[in-house]
Amino acid sequence: MKNVILIIEDEEKIARFLELELKHEGYEVEVAYDGRTGYDKAVNGNIDLIILDLMLPELSGIEVCRRVRKVSDVPIIMLTAKDDISDKVMGLDMGADDYITKPFAIEELLARIRTALRRKSGIKIQNNDINQNARKNIIKAGNLELSKDEYKVTYSGEEINLSKKEFELLLYLMENKDIVLSREKILENVWGYDFMGDTNITDVYIRYLRSKIDQRFGMQFIHTVRGVGYIFKEK
Ligand code: CA
Repeated sequence: MKNVILIIEDEEKIARFLELELKHEGYEVEVAYDGRTGYDKAVNGNIDLIILDLMLPELSGIEVCRRVRKVSDVPIIMLTAKDDISDKVMGLDMGADDYITKPFAIEELLARIRTALRRKSGIKIQNNDINQNARKNIIKAGNLELSKDEYKVTYSGEEINLSKKEFELLLYLMENKDIVLSREKILENVWGYDFMGDTNITDVYIRYLRSKIDQRFGMQFIHTVRGVGYIFKEK
């Protein structure tokens, strides 16, 4: 069965170019030229992956992403026109899996697509494993408790609201308690690929976690290892 890729991009030249390249690679392709049509296709069709431009008429890419995430975990790769970290962080916070900055090399986009599709099938297998071993689904560090099943984090029973990426980062840190993790390693494991020099995105997310957990509850779980990265400790 062919994977179906939905392109949501208002620049017709780019959309057509992508459509041809993706068909050539053996994918089935759907195209939408505005956010609203894109959203409808994303939730009504049988789509395996979405390539989503951020600057769109009708409904912005960020908004499309936010709405799609409410009902589906289909992989989303954002196309961003500018090299603006706040745009990327916002998109990733809204649940996009990856982004690529225009202008891009088609080979790079194709590689990202393959990675995202691989991860998608990997997640399914992981979830099955988890179901077979329910006891493994809660990780504790003192009063901090993370439930993988419920996608929920609490401190002394009080719920902490985390975005998808914050949750995944915390999960990775907690699963590797007492091990020093480099920024590159964190990127590779939480974001799933080499972030092309934007390793400071990990610092941004560590700051979010510290303010939501360490500072809020007067604890120190996340420690900086200068020049290397971070380590999660229970005490
Ligand atoms: Ca656009």
